[in-house]
Amino acid sequence: MLLFTPGPTPVPESVRLAMAGPTLHHRTPEFEAIFAEARAKLFDLMATDEVVMLASSGTGAMEAAVTNLCRRKLLNVNAGKFGQRFGLIAQAHGLPNVEIVHDWDTPATVEEILEAIEADDKIDALAIQISESAGGLRHPVEEIAAAVKAKRPEMMVIADGITAVGVERIDTTHIDALIAGSQKALMLPPGLAILGLSNAAVEKIGSGKGYYFNLASEIKKQRQNTTAYTAPTTLIIGLRAILEEIEKRGGAGKLYCDTARRAKATRFALEALGLHSYPKAPARSMTTIDDAQANEIRSLLKSDFGVNVAGGQDHLKGKIFRINQMGLIEPHEMLWVVNAVELALAKLGRRAFDGTAAKVWNETFYKTMLSKVPDPEECA
Ligand SMILES: *Cc1c(COP(=O)(O)O)cnc(C)c1O
Repeated sequence: MLLFTPGPTPVPESVRLAMAGPTLHHRTPEFEAIFAEARAKLFDLMATDEVVMLASSGTGAMEAAVTNLCRRKLLNVNAGKFGQRFGLIAQAHGLPNVEIVHDWDTPATVEEILEAIEADDKIDALAIQISESAGGLRHPVEEIAAAVKAKRPEMMVIADGITAVGVERIDTTHIDALIAGSQKALMLPPGLAILGLSNAAVEKIGSGKGYYFNLASEIKKQRQNTTAYTAPTTLIIGLRAILEEIEKRGGAGKLYCDTARRAKATRFALEALGLHSYPKAPARSMTTIDDAQANEIRSLLKSDFGVNVAGGQDHLKGKIFRINQMGLIEPHEMLWVVNAVELALAKLGRRAFDGTAAKVWNETFYKTMLSKVPDPEECA
C-alpha cells in the first residue's frame, strides 16, 4: 500500500536503518555529538536564531509556544482543526483568546489581522498555521507577520509550520516561533517536535513557563547539546539521517522545487479530470479535492489500486480527500496516484478512462524539469 496521507508520511529506508542501532544513553559524549550535528543542520533548515527539539508530537510545540510566548491575550486564526487548536490551548491555560474564524478553504488576510490587533491592545501574540492541513490551505503568513511587526514590533508571531517546514522555503524574518513536527514533512516516525525561535522570542521567554515545556530550561540545555529530560535519542538519530539524506539528494532547495512542481502537476492532473481543488489558496504540502464521492474514491484507491489517501475531518468528513505531497516522493509513485484517481472515476462511471491524468501530470511535471531556466515561482 502506498502511504499518501499528509502525515504520517513514509520514512526513507536509509533513515529507518540509521534508527535500527542499539539504544544509546542520552548523557554520553557519543550521543551529544549526534545531537550537535542534528542541531547544526536544524539551524540551516529552520533559518531561525535559536532551535529546540521537544519529545512530543507537534501539538506539544504548539502548546510550548503559546504558554511561553503569550502572556496576556492570544489572537488565533481558526480556518481548520489546527488553527482551532491554538485557541483551545490558550483556553486550557486560562489565557484569553480572540479568534478569527474562516471556512476551511479561505485564507486569512493581512487587513483582518491588523484590524483585530488594533481593536485590542492586550493581544501580545498571534498564532497561525502556514499550511492548515485540515483543508490543505496556505495562509499568507510571511506577509501577515511583516505587517504585524510593522504595527506592533513587540508582538510575538507563532507560525505552525508542521506541514510547511521541509515543503517550501519560509521567510522567517518576522516570525518568532516556527514549529515543525517529525511525522509530516520531515519523514520521521511521530514523536519529535521542533521549535525555531527568534532572539526576541528567547528574550520574551525569560525564565520560561510551565515545567516540561519550559522553553528556558530547554534552550539552556540544548545550547550544551543535551536536553532537560531524556532525549528521544532514536528520533534525533533519525533526524540527523533525514537531513543528511536531503543533502545527499541535492539539498533543501531541490526538495522544495520538486515538491512545488509535483504539487502543481497533481492539481493540474486532477483538475483536468473535472475534479475541484478545495482550498482557495492551496498549500504545497497536499492536494485537496472536494467531491461528493470523496469516500467512494478513497475506498477504491485503497481496495483496487493500493493507495492510501486521507479524508476530511469534522464537517468535511466524506466531502474531501487529501493527497500528500510532503517528503522525498518518487515521481512514478505520484504518477500512479493520479492515474489511480482517474481509474477510480472510471469505475464510478464518472468519465471514460483515457489516460488524461497521467498525460497532464507528465506534461506539467517534466516540462519545467527539462527547461534549463527554473520557474521562479516553483524554485524560489
Ligand atoms: C499534524 C498537525 C499538527 C498536530 O501535530 P500532532 O503531531 O498530531 O500533534 C499541527 N498542525 C498542523 C498544521 C498539522 O498538520
